[in-house]
Amino acid sequence: MIIRPEIIEDIKSRNDIETVISSYVRLKRAGSNLNGLCPFHSEKTPSFTVFPATQSFYCFGCGAGGDVITFVMRTENVDYVTAVRILAERSGITIPDENVSSYSKGVSRQRILDMNREAAKFFHAALLDEKTGAEARRYLLDERKLSMAVVNHFGLGYAPNSFGAVHDHLKKAGFTDEEMITGFLCGKSNNGTVYDYFRNRVIFPIIDVSGNVVAFGGRVMDNSLPKYLNTSDTPAFKKSKNLFALNFAKDKCADMLILCEGYMDVIALHAAGFEFAVATLGTAITQEQARIFSRYTKKVVISYDSDEAGQRAADKAFKYLQEVGLDVKILKMNGAKDPDEYIKKFGSEKFAGLLDDSKSRFQFEIEKILSKYDIANTDEKVKASYEICKILSTFTSEVERDVYAHKVSEILKIPKQSILKDVERIMRKKNSDAKKNFRNEIYRNTSGFADRVNPESVSNMKACRTEEAILGLMQLKAELLKKAVSELTADDFVTSFNKKVFEKISEAYKEYGKFDIAFISDSFSVDETSRVTKMLVTRERLDNNGEEIMSELIKSLKEEKSNENTGSIDDILDIISRKKQED
Ligand SMILES: [Zn+2]
Repeated sequence: MIIRPEIIEDIKSRNDIETVISSYVRLKRAGSNLNGLCPFHSEKTPSFTVFPATQSFYCFGCGAGGDVITFVMRTENVDYVTAVRILAERSGITIPDENVSSYSKGVSRQRILDMNREAAKFFHAALLDEKTGAEARRYLLDERKLSMAVVNHFGLGYAPNSFGAVHDHLKKAGFTDEEMITGFLCGKSNNGTVYDYFRNRVIFPIIDVSGNVVAFGGRVMDNSLPKYLNTSDTPAFKKSKNLFALNFAKDKCADMLILCEGYMDVIALHAAGFEFAVATLGTAITQEQARIFSRYTKKVVISYDSDEAGQRAADKAFKYLQEVGLDVKILKMNGAKDPDEYIKKFGSEKFAGLLDDSKSRFQFEIEKILSKYDIANTDEKVKASYEICKILSTFTSEVERDVYAHKVSEILKIPKQSILKDVERIMRKKNSDAKKNFRNEIYRNTSGFADRVNPESVSNMKACRTEEAILGLMQLKAELLKKAVSELTADDFVTSFNKKVFEKISEAYKEYGKFDIAFISDSFSVDETSRVTKMLVTRERLDNNGEEIMSELIKSLKEEKSNENTGSIDDILDIISRKKQED
């Protein structure tokens, strides 16, 4: 273990799981536990549960689980040591340095953040350099009409047209090739040369809400391709969990956030006084990003390009943002293809007017459909009506469906009742499809096809269940932990994942005389930790958790193991080949 157990225990005792999770998730008491909407998957009814008694959490929907440290690892997207440090800081504990052995698991997040800060300074200086940055300054200041104040505010920069400028600078600053490659600032060619990844591009630093430079976006200044280059996922950055300019927007967006397509749109909006604009990082919006939006605001106005690709992206954004309960509107621009161009042409006051006029998804969709069909023609009117009913069928509120059905009946001159009937038919059909999918999914899960954490569970279902019960009980009660450690060895386990869990729990027990998930979670991924917690949570919900059960489980696992040895495929193949030789 990296950090001493007494320090971990101290940190955990001062960071009550209920209090910590409450600052991210709205929790409601349900008996002795608490429920809320899961922050790790989209859901409408709460399956995310916090267990104060064992200081753990588990989501019965997506299977995420663990302790307070794992929770921070997942929500903040950080490694184990960083999560412990965050919690230590939160409760005012300082971790003495001798308690943290050098962290050698590849390149650490902190090193990458330090390196990014250095690189950002380098890019900015290159932009300001009279000779090197001349073309980039012309592009930003003259062509894109940004002021120097805005350039400085966003820390924009320029990556020189060279294969080694960034590399040489970072090397001098003490960073290694491995760090530069892991941090996505450099690549490695086939012959082993390390080269700069961003070249001859305007650079947009991506800064997280804590003020760390987590990544970069680079844009060409002409029409060459690719237009944008972005940092891929690194130990310090996950594209799907960050938003450009949220660091500036986060304090100004309680009422509304504007979601744009590109960095330049965001910068133009901020410069025009709309400091509550953000953008995704060169990809379509993810469900994780939608959840970030819901953490900061109530309403999102989508302002994507008016071309077809932009509109398709807007549809997806609509869906994800609505799923997390946000009020979502779409902004319609005429006479310009994006907000940057619009503000340049018509000014910021006009744009503010557009924000006020932004349309609900329904209005927007209806307009799209009506523009496609000629409703004076009966056939086309039927088609239009069917498409509109399909949209109505996605509204969960009956009142909403009724109100909009009324509007549609007026436009299409069709009785409201027949529209509602069609909507119901579509909903019934969707429901039965959903049920079918749900059954299939359960089938896949129970037959183990989807088990990536423990792939061997498919062929060893019974043994795996026994193992999980034992491992769950070991976490639940000290006396059962003692019993299992003294009566079982790792070799009694059939599946290798559960074997590893047993080994780690036993090691912790032998060293510290007790067990806490935090003692072992640096040996497992977050998904693996979730599985270990699931074992605990499953047992916790049963009444029968005594010594006899443990004895029975131990006995039956040993039987399973001996069955496995006589019945394995290798043995059978062995028998077959021996038979063949005899013949
Ligand atoms: Zn979940």
